[in-house]
Amino acid sequence: MLETDVLIAGAGPAGLLLAAELALAGVRTTIVERLPERPPYCRGFNLNARALDLLARRGLAEGLVAEGHRVPHAPVTGLPGPLLLDGAATDHPFSLGIPQTRVEEVLEARALELGVEILRGHDLRSFTQSADDVAAVVHNGRFGRTVRARFLAGCDGSRSIVRKQAGIDFPGADARWYALLGDVECELPYGPSAGPDGRSVFVIPRPGYVRIVVREDDPPSDKNTPVTLERLQAQVDAVLGRHVELRAPRWLSRFGDAARLASRYRSGRVLLAGDAAHIHPPAGAIGVNVALDDAFNLGWKLAATVHGTAPEGLLDTYHEERHAAGSRILANTRAQVALEEAGEEPWADLMRRVAAHPAGNRALAEIITGLDACYEPGGHPWLGRLAPDVPLQVSGTETHLAALLHAGRPVLLDLTGSFAAWSAGMEVVAASSSSTSDIEAVLLRPDGHVAWVGTPGSGEAGLAAAVHRWVGDVPVPASA
Ligand SMILES: Cc1cc2nc3c(=O)[nH]c(=O)nc-3n(C[C@H](O)[C@H](O)[C@H](O)COP(=O)(O)OP(=O)(O)OC[C@H]3O[C@@H](n4cnc5c(N)ncnc54)[C@H](O)[C@@H]3O)c2cc1C
Repeated sequence: MLETDVLIAGAGPAGLLLAAELALAGVRTTIVERLPERPPYCRGFNLNARALDLLARRGLAEGLVAEGHRVPHAPVTGLPGPLLLDGAATDHPFSLGIPQTRVEEVLEARALELGVEILRGHDLRSFTQSADDVAAVVHNGRFGRTVRARFLAGCDGSRSIVRKQAGIDFPGADARWYALLGDVECELPYGPSAGPDGRSVFVIPRPGYVRIVVREDDPPSDKNTPVTLERLQAQVDAVLGRHVELRAPRWLSRFGDAARLASRYRSGRVLLAGDAAHIHPPAGAIGVNVALDDAFNLGWKLAATVHGTAPEGLLDTYHEERHAAGSRILANTRAQVALEEAGEEPWADLMRRVAAHPAGNRALAEIITGLDACYEPGGHPWLGRLAPDVPLQVSGTETHLAALLHAGRPVLLDLTGSFAAWSAGMEVVAASSSSTSDIEAVLLRPDGHVAWVGTPGSGEAGLAAAVHRWVGDVPVPASA
């Protein structure tokens, strides 16, 4: 029997970042991962501006940015031109080309460094939950054992056993089409190659090989049927109307445009994050990024709940905030596919004209990347949003806002030197800034989203309520 505070099923981007966030907050965390080692192929190849902004709140973006290559726009499907990020609400106005496997390596190293236990080759088979804990049966191929934890996080991908066994519905739309994917070598040029009937084979450059994507005619009734090189070759030749040899297959797979969203992200002591909570068409290259967003939102809330310091209802705000975000992601990705298929439909023409307009182009870039995330709409423009990484002076030293969040604690940024008494349960950082003239103080949640803004003349109004809502039942100064 193994005991831990939080058991995480799955060491993908969601599981690894969640584990690192929990361990940063001092929570005993164990990951069980079915695969004995990371697969040799790589699914995703990008981090978007929103994910980079979040990772920067823990000091994790800089190293990745130095390794990857920057593209000044957001990936999008169905529009003729790019969505530019110049001027968008982000500290990272670019997409970063970097293999998902590399992102996972970096997150895994951080999780291990912070003390997370990662059990590879361990399959979570079943679990039961009681009022006090969760007991999961985990199998390593030779024998099973029970892991008892206070919470279980299902970060176990789209076919999540955790989601199914928790009885959480996964409503949505079945796939209308399937595509074959092959990481191979061939002589086709990068980009779309059209065949005689207008259908195309897409060729995406990858390091040392290419990724071929082609819609599949007559997919098998069992979509888990392995894809063979012969099958892919026949489909490519059928679409192109000629033979183009595909060689040296590294990874062959099939995907569709199904869109489903878990009806609940929490069921008692069980939580879902990443693909376990949502699947969507492959438009906008968003899956890794949303998985990280979910984990970042959940980590600090679950940690406070485990420590017993969480305000009433804090953990439920994870479902409220990220289920709504998931719903928007399904809508955005489905809209992109619809746009791609719309041809000369009048609404599609309107969308293309919006995208051609600089303000419309930027708005679409922010929506599709999730940069428009706002958990408390209304009020000051910063409220509910990720606070921008403005430069600050703290104790005579130049720093910036994101650096204040590296420890993963709530921060009261005090720009007038009059909030020192509010130190219970959070860091109060007295600072000056030349770029925030209409702000006197900001309460930052550990994920960097703004819980309260004090403006000239507003004094401390509303701060006590925001502290009780996001930080906990801590003593507030008599002045409040
Ligand atoms: C071909 C392809 C291309 C993609 N390209 C991009 C892209 O360019 N950009 C992007 O952002 N996203 C992309 N994605 C999506 C992205 O890969 C996923 O959205 C992302 O990996 C989701 O992360 P996750 O942590 O939620 O789940 P996963 O990465 O799927 O991780 C889940 C983990 O759980 C493990 N697991 C499952 N069941 C169990 C169990 N019972 N016990 C223990 N472990 C278990 C699995 O082995 C796996 O390691 C792509 C996906 C595909 C298929």
